[in-house]
Amino acid sequence: MNFAIGFDFDHTLGLDNKLERTVGLEIVQRLAAARGLPYDAANAIAVFDTALASYRNGDVAVETAIGGVLLQLVGPGASNLDEAARFRDEVALRAPEFVTALPGARAMLDELDSLGVRYALLTNGWSPLQETKARLIGFDGPVLVSERIGARKPSRAAFELLAKQLELAPDAVWYVGDDPLIDCGGARAAGLGAVWFDWEARGYPPEVEPPNFVIHALDELPKLVQGHLTGAAKPPG
Ligand SMILES: [Mg+2]
Repeated sequence: MNFAIGFDFDHTLGLDNKLERTVGLEIVQRLAAARGLPYDAANAIAVFDTALASYRNGDVAVETAIGGVLLQLVGPGASNLDEAARFRDEVALRAPEFVTALPGARAMLDELDSLGVRYALLTNGWSPLQETKARLIGFDGPVLVSERIGARKPSRAAFELLAKQLELAPDAVWYVGDDPLIDCGGARAAGLGAVWFDWEARGYPPEVEPPNFVIHALDELPKLVQGHLTGAAKPPG
């Protein structure tokens, strides 16, 4: 079939419920206690979230960001490097406690399966966390993680790699995501169809290229796809 779908993960198919922050702050608390330092939760959250934003933007590696958090909150110490190095594994290990699917995610994928529609995930983030999150909600298609593929949404390169993974031209792929700019704007600029999953009342900025379709629940997607495939199957005229 000359059609397939790419999905965003976070806030589109699943949530991780502050998994990274929780694990990161546990490390800080443990080191603070071991070093006899006070622990200021509000400050620790602010420092951690700044670091999280910097590695999510791809500005620094995860380990570098976590090392910076530890230095800032519990000072220098021999165990900082080890803790920063263990962070990825620890987060991936703890993921099952935190990751939840959005309502209807697995049922929607089942419907796509029965329509014969292939799909893949394109997500900004790091490995192995994003792959682990995808598997935890039962996503069994290919998973393209920005850190691994060397391209981040909304760049054209990221969406082109998705289309390549699906062995289709970009215009034969729809991309489904919750973020107007990163998901929909990026997909449209790369020539894909964009489906905006509007469920958090975020609003769609007028300066971003509008999506081709809008859904408010995941179970709306298979119907939309079915309509598209039926229309595409009709002879022209
Ligand atoms: Mg998202």
